[in-house]
Amino acid sequence: MQVGAHVSVAGGVDNAVDREVDVGGNCGQIFTTSPQVWQDPEFEDGEAERFREWSREENVGPWVIHASYLVNLATPKKKLREKSVASLQAELDAADRLGIDYVNVHLGAHTGAGVEQGLTNAADTLDALDIPEGVTLLVESDAGSGTKLGDEFDHLGAVLDRSTQDLEVCLDTAHVFAAGYDLSTPAEVETTFAEFDDLVGVENLACVHLNDSKHGCGTNKDEHAHVGEGKIGTEGMRAVLTHEAVRDVPLVLETPEENGKDFAWNVERTRELAD
Ligand SMILES: [Zn+2]
Ligand SMILES: [Zn+2]
Repeated sequence: MQVGAHVSVAGGVDNAVDREVDVGGNCGQIFTTSPQVWQDPEFEDGEAERFREWSREENVGPWVIHASYLVNLATPKKKLREKSVASLQAELDAADRLGIDYVNVHLGAHTGAGVEQGLTNAADTLDALDIPEGVTLLVESDAGSGTKLGDEFDHLGAVLDRSTQDLEVCLDTAHVFAAGYDLSTPAEVETTFAEFDDLVGVENLACVHLNDSKHGCGTNKDEHAHVGEGKIGTEGMRAVLTHEAVRDVPLVLETPEENGKDFAWNVERTRELAD
C-alpha cells in the first residue's frame, strides 16, 4: 500500500524524500513554500533533479503538492481570484518540474456569493489554469466552517461537472467526518462511500488524507488526531482503510506530532489497520 506523511521541505525540496523515508512512508505530500503567505515556490533545477532522482531511488511516490491556504477558488472578488490563479499555476508548474503527479487544493469560501455562485466561481477559476500534462489537480473535501465549500460531496461533484478541466478528488477523512458524514463504524463507512460514489464517483478518488478527528461528526471543526485515536476511532479507520474505494489510493497523513506519537507511529498504525 502507498502511505506517507506531509513532510517539510526545510533546507531544500529534495530533503523531503529523506524525511519520508525516515517515517517509513512510500508516498507523501509537501508545501513548496509557506502556505500562509503569498509566495511562489522557489528552487534550483539541481534541487528538482535530486528530488526526482531520490524519489525514484527510494521508491517514494506519488507525491502531492498541497496548495497555499490563501488560494480561494470560489471567491467573488476579482483580485483574490487572480492571485489564486497565479499561485495555483505556480504550484502546478512546480509539480511539473519536480515530477510530482498531484496538486491538491481546497475550493475556498464563497464569502456571501452563495453556494451555487461559489461553485460556479470555483469551476471558472479552475478553467483559467494551464495544467501541465502528467499533473492532476485534486479538489479536497472540507470540514465546512463559515462559507467554505467542499464539505458536501455534492459540491465536489458540481465542480467536477462544471469545470472543463480533468479534475480528481482528495478526501480528507477528518474533514469528511467533521462535515457530517459518519465514518466511525463499518456500516457508516459503507453508507458514506456509497453517497460519495453517487455524487462524485469513486473512480474520481485519487488521494485520501488519512486523519482521525478530535471533534465529533458534524461539528465542522477541523482538528486532526492520530489514526484510530480520535472520534472516528479504530473500527472506523480500519473500515475506511479496507474499503475497496480506498484500498488502492495513496494515503497521506496530516496527523499531529504530540503525546509521543509522530508520523512514523501513524504510518505503522495505518499499515496494521489495513492488514
Ligand atoms: Zn488540505
Ligand atoms: Zn487534508
